[in-house]
Amino acid sequence: MMTITKNQITAWLNSCAQEYADNQDALTNLDKDIGDADHGLNMNRGFSKVAETLPTIADQNIGAIFKSVGMTLLSSVGGASGPLYGTLFIRAAGAAKGADEIELTGLIEALKVGVDGVVSRGKAELGDKTMCDVWIPVISSAKEAIDSGKCDDEVLDLMVETAEKSTLSTIEMQAKKGRASYLGERSIGHQDPGATSSLLMIKALVKVIKGNK
Ligand code: ADP
Ligand code: MG
Repeated sequence: MMTITKNQITAWLNSCAQEYADNQDALTNLDKDIGDADHGLNMNRGFSKVAETLPTIADQNIGAIFKSVGMTLLSSVGGASGPLYGTLFIRAAGAAKGADEIELTGLIEALKVGVDGVVSRGKAELGDKTMCDVWIPVISSAKEAIDSGKCDDEVLDLMVETAEKSTLSTIEMQAKKGRASYLGERSIGHQDPGATSSLLMIKALVKVIKGNK
């Protein structure tokens, strides 16, 4: 089982900042279709703040870094997604504890605690067309793969594959939570913005973990 270092965690968060800067317009366009056209702006604002803050907390442990990221997102990302992504990192921080490195299983476990927090805060169920439609299957497929003895690379590849499929699966869903739910059936036929920003986050994580072996 591979170990993920604190430096890889900060590299992941910086890479998220880069992804959201590069994809701000794409995310905002998705939100234009079924929301209020601010998701790209929200994510870019939040993660550029995270990237700005990271150097000041880089010597702290993974739990403290996650906590700080969560607080930054909570205070700087507007909309529904700010408190939800904030919750993901703050809850994950509790599970990651004070470690300077974390095993892949431990990271998946911490992210699961984070996602459980998002679900209890936002009350989204599978199929409601939200970020949870990406996170829930990604975490459960990763856990399943680990439990059935798959190697790290297989687990990581499965996470990306599941995230990609799950993001596309939101197209056919009718939104039941958040702003998009106001559209009723008219929300069908559009990819969910939050699912898409979650896909970017997961792909960035896997890339950093696989790249630094
Ligand atoms: P807002 O909708 O307030 O403008 P954003 O545009 O930043 O906020 O984020 C919209 C995304 O937030 C949606 O695409 C969806 O994935 C996610 N979202 C909204 N409500 C919920 C919820 N209750 N649970 C989980 N995710 C949600
Ligand atoms: Mg929006």
